[in-house]
Amino acid sequence: VAQPTRTCIGCGEKKPKGALVRLVLDDGGQPLLDRSQRQKGRGAYLCGAGCLKSALKRKAFGRAFRGKAALDPAQVEAALVALVDKTS
Ligand SMILES: [Zn+2]
Repeated sequence: VAQPTRTCIGCGEKKPKGALVRLVLDDGGQPLLDRSQRQKGRGAYLCGAGCLKSALKRKAFGRAFRGKAALDPAQVEAALVALVDKTS
């Protein structure tokens, strides 16, 4: 069975969902790492910590989570950096 593919917001490559890290905003607009990839809400995908830097540079999170985040974009980015750092 072919896995659904998702686009990494850092490098823009399409990859199988399972090869990517999913980041979501929870109901309160707080960024979370979605390990199950089943969390409801607005999601964004990344290959890993390397692509996080590109995503930050491109301000990709601001676009992915526009209007949904409870925090300002800089705080969302800081929270995501902390989350993704734990995975590597
Ligand atoms: Zn990537």
